[in-house]
Amino acid sequence: MQTVISDINEESLALASKIIREGGLVAFPTETVYGLGADATNDDAVRAIYAAKGRPSDNPLIVHVPPEYDVSNLVYITESALKLTKAYLPGPLTMVYKSKGKVSPLVSCGLDTLAVRVPAHRGAARFLRAAGVPIAAPSANVSKHVSPVTARHVYDDLAGKIPLILDGGSSCGGIESTVLDVTGEVPVILRSGLVTFDMIKAVAGRCEYVHSTDGPVRSPGMKYKHYSPRAETAYFERDRLAEAVSEYKSALNRGLSPIFICDDKIAAQLEGMEYISLGSTSEQLAANVYTALRQAEKTHNFIIGVALKGDSQVDVGVMNRFVKAMGGKT
Ligand code: AMP
Ligand code: MG
Repeated sequence: MQTVISDINEESLALASKIIREGGLVAFPTETVYGLGADATNDDAVRAIYAAKGRPSDNPLIVHVPPEYDVSNLVYITESALKLTKAYLPGPLTMVYKSKGKVSPLVSCGLDTLAVRVPAHRGAARFLRAAGVPIAAPSANVSKHVSPVTARHVYDDLAGKIPLILDGGSSCGGIESTVLDVTGEVPVILRSGLVTFDMIKAVAGRCEYVHSTDGPVRSPGMKYKHYSPRAETAYFERDRLAEAVSEYKSALNRGLSPIFICDDKIAAQLEGMEYISLGSTSEQLAANVYTALRQAEKTHNFIIGVALKGDSQVDVGVMNRFVKAMGGKT
């Protein structure tokens, strides 16, 4: 199959709509990462998403709809969810509701809940409108690889497996949406993102982080390996920079080509060594983390991560991805 990358215009949207109606897959931009979309009401189309990504079939998908869509068609909306919708949607917040069972059961892997997201990206909204059906979509990468934030990243992973990638430029947010369970009395963060704990608490009155060790897994995606670059990795806390530097030097001696990924403050202490700095503010760290991982794996075979420190709670989400990408061990 030939994979076309196209700007978002009348012609490409007509093609996207035709592909979706016929049960095919279309990659599209959002403000977080690129998504791999299919008709959420079509079992075969949803199955094709899992197949193209090599995604485990028990890791559920998020349904995407445009801003004017009435979400109560699909799910039971609670009072706190309504407040959060008014405050933060469209935007990088996915809410998990009790499902009305209107989409394919494969979307939620048989769970009685459904995750719904309303992206703020203009191109995403145009695609979702053209599609005319709720769109099930995970991130548009090969399962376990680094999430894509450009059309080119999607192409690198999925060329030959999907017919169309809608190109909406670089995703400005940089990390996936916050996933929030709103089925209970207290909203529970299943995955951290750009809509933070404090932002949710300010609107809903209460908020909790999921405790992944007790009880059944509430966000099935959390149990899988994620965001892995195609290189050896190592990870160090900020106060162990000296050890990170010896690791770099010993890697050079072993004939490897090492590179650091870090923030500006750490980069300033790495004279004479190769590094990619993600910047200094939390927004910069989030926006640059996936591009840096994809860049580093192309040119180097050993990536050394040093813990990142920005200026806000967004760091919880960025660090969650970064530590997983780096193998999570010091
Ligand atoms: P992604 O591959 O980045 O699109 O990941 C989607 C995330 O949303 C995964 O972590 C899923 O486990 C989570 N998710 C989707 N649907 C549900 C659901 N019904 N209940 C809990 N988590 C969900
Ligand atoms: Mg993903």
